[in-house]
Order: sequence, then C-alpha cells, then structure tokens
Amino acid sequence: MSDLAAITDLDEFQRTARAWLDENCPKSLRGGGSSIYGITGGKKWNPSNPDERVWMERGAAKGLTAPMWPAEYGGGGMSPKQNKVLLQQMRELRIPAPLVGFGLTMIGPTLLQYGTDAQKAEHLPPIIRGEIRWCQGYSEPGAGSDLAGLQCRAVEDGDEYVINGSKIWTSNADEADWIFCLVRTDPDAKKQEGITFILFDMDQPGVTVRPIPLISGASPFCETFFDDARAKQSNVIYKVNAGWTVAKALLGHERTMIADAFGVGGGSRMSLADRARKYLPASEDGRVSDAALRDEIAQSEIDAKAFGLTVQRSKDAAKAGHQPGPESSMFKVYGTELNMSRHELMIRIMGPQALGWEGDGFEQDELDLTRAWLRTRGNSIEGGTSEVQRNVIAKRVLGLPD
Ligand SMILES: Cc1cc2nc3c(=O)[nH]c(=O)nc-3n(C[C@H](O)[C@H](O)[C@H](O)COP(=O)(O)OP(=O)(O)OC[C@H]3O[C@@H](n4cnc5c(N)ncnc54)[C@H](O)[C@@H]3O)c2cc1C
Repeated sequence: MSDLAAITDLDEFQRTARAWLDENCPKSLRGGGSSIYGITGGKKWNPSNPDERVWMERGAAKGLTAPMWPAEYGGGGMSPKQNKVLLQQMRELRIPAPLVGFGLTMIGPTLLQYGTDAQKAEHLPPIIRGEIRWCQGYSEPGAGSDLAGLQCRAVEDGDEYVINGSKIWTSNADEADWIFCLVRTDPDAKKQEGITFILFDMDQPGVTVRPIPLISGASPFCETFFDDARAKQSNVIYKVNAGWTVAKALLGHERTMIADAFGVGGGSRMSLADRARKYLPASEDGRVSDAALRDEIAQSEIDAKAFGLTVQRSKDAAKAGHQPGPESSMFKVYGTELNMSRHELMIRIMGPQALGWEGDGFEQDELDLTRAWLRTRGNSIEGGTSEVQRNVIAKRVLGLPD
C-alpha cells in the first residue's frame, strides 16, 4: 500500500499528498493537458523530456499510476475518497498523470474483474510500473460495428494458440509491447460464442504492424497482421469461446474512459470565455460583445460541468464495485459529441487563426488546436460509433424492442 493510503484523515491526506506532489513532480511538466495523451511508458517509449520518465517512476513507486488498484500488485490501495482528493490536488497544481494508456484504462480493470490470480500477478505490476504498453486488437476490415463477425483465427497447438488474420485501427500498435486481442477459436459456433479473449506479445516474428496516416497529420493507429503469431493458452482471459463476455466488459471501461477523457473540454488549457476574450472584441466591462456567442459559451460550459459531475458520480459508483454497464454508451455518445461541439466552437471563435497547419503567424496552441479539432472527427467512431451506441441505449438501457 502507498504510504499515502495509510493516512485516513482526509485533511492530513490532502496536505501530505500536495506537499509530496509539489516536491516530486518536475516543474517542466506542470501546465495541464489532456488525460489521454501523456506519459505512455512501455519498452519503446523514448520521451523527449527526460523528466517524464522521472515523474512516471516516482509516481509508480508512490502508487500514483494506479491509485486505487490493490497494493499487492503495486497499486496505491487508496479509497475512492483519497483518490478524489489526490486528483483534485493534481489538477490544482497542474500536474499530469504519471502514466496513461490502455493498460490502466482497459486491460487492467478487465484483468481485475476476469483474470486469474496468476494472470493478475503477471500483468498488473508491469502496467503499474509503466514497463509494458498495451494495444487493443478488436476491429477488423470486415468487423467494426459488427464486431462479433471477426475472423482472426486462433488454433490450438500444444500449450499455445497459433494466430492468423489481421486487425485494423489498432491504436498505437507500433509502440505497444502487448496486445489484448479477440480471436475466433470456434468457427462453427454462433458468432458471439466462438470468440476468445487472449493476450500476447507484439514483439515476435509473426506480428507485422503498418501505421495509417490521418488528416490530423498524426499516425496513431495501424493495420496489424498476424502470420502464425503465438499466444500462450495461459493468457486466455476467462474461458475459451467465452471472450465476448470479457470483450463487452472491456468496452464498458473503454467507453467510460473515452467519455471521461474527451468529454470535458478535450484537454484545452484555455476556457472558452478566455479564448473568446483573446480573439474577439470585448465590451468595456470585459465581456465578449457578441451576446449570442456568450449564450453558446455559457451553455457549453454548463453542459461540460454537468457531464463532468455525472461521470464523476458513475466513477464513484464504479469504485464502490459497480462495473460499467450499457449506460457507458450514454456517456460515450454525450461526452464525445460535447467534445466535438466544443472544438467547433473554439475553431469558430479563433477564426483564421484556427486555420494554421504549420509555420510562422500561429502560436503553438493554435496549431495544436487545429489538429485537435481534426482529431475529434474520430470521437464519434472510436470505441463504437454513436449510431451503434444509440442502438445499445435503445435496447439495453431503455428496453425497446429490436
Ligand atoms: C480514433 C480511433 C481509434 C481506434 N482505435 C481502435 C483500437 O485501438 N483498436 C480497435 O480494435 N479498433 C479501434 N478503432 C476502430 C473502431 O472501433 C471502429 O472504427 C468502429 O467500431 C466502427 O467500425 P468501422 O470503422 O468498421 O465502421 P462500420 O462498422 O463499417 O460502420 C460504418 C457506418 O455504418 C454505421 N452502422 C454500422 N452498423 C450500424 C447499425 N447496426 N445501426 C446503425 N448504424 C450502423 C456506423 O455507425 C458507421 O457510421 C478506432 C477508431 C478510431 C476512429
């Protein structure tokens, strides 16, 4: 257990955590930013700022990379209340998370729910220490929304599976060390019933990764090919041919994470009102002079605040043992659409300054925002499209007929 977790008095916890954060997070990292882009860790990680590694290692040793995970795996062992105070202190000091990634947000929580003791002991500590970075092998060229139609095949061979097929849109596959992957183990069963959830090492001869360039100029995801790749049977999560159950649980974590990461402003460091004051004429009392725009800004801020509080309530429930269910689809739709509309608003406020791609005449924040805006086009697709989420809400939340 982190020594912080042992401090049960919340006022004392707050003072001690704040002092430790202030002393240990390198000054060069202060300043905020999105929670989805940040310190990723992993064997291939080579941060341009060496302070990132310092902060990751200090944070991991203190239990702050996974504050509420069990201490036996290296987590902080903190209570939901302690975690809330900790996150508040980090926000106030503008300190980034010491580690982000699919290990912490997707496969880790899924292993805590479905992994055996041996699987947890093998995989959770390297996630917490930032040593292994994970990617997600779900989508295939013919299986996105219809995920259960996936064809990537795994055939038993001794105590291993041999995997052949391909995945697409595999975020950060070129930088990941391990993959959590859906494979078809019984081609004769009904489609949901022949799928297995398995983990394997990306660093092996049977795995080829090809990055896909995007309009944002980045290339964050890849085509991933498996030609006789190998996975140990001991890395099947839950049961052979019962991977659909695990896959759905993980999607609940993924959708909550996407909603949470994008839904409250997309990591923009400047409020909408400050941005409007910077780029648009202000009245004498310092308010944005366009009354209609003022309304839009106020509404968007209210929506973001209300959404942030709703997500927080659901996270508190999750910490009390409630696993995310189909309601995560509501968060996913609302959070991502909010993020997209807020970026549209920011771009409108900035006018021609939002049209920069590179070069002089634009501040770095402006260039970053243009790319961030283009990146938001993927929000309504990743983790399951908005249309598909609406189907899930209709059927599984509202109980409407097919
Ligand atoms: C930024 C980003 C990151 C991603 N990262 C990963 C990753 O790491 N790993 C991974 O496995 N995948 C990843 N994906 C892929 C993502 O999960 C799929 O793109 C998504 O599930 C949609 O599948 P598709 O692209 O095949 O579209 P399709 O399923 O072909 O859908 C095409 C269109 O048809 C609509 N549609 C389909 N079925 C229905 C229906 N039943 N009712 C109504 N409308 C429907 C869809 O809403 C969509 O508009 C990522 C995608 C993005 C954009």
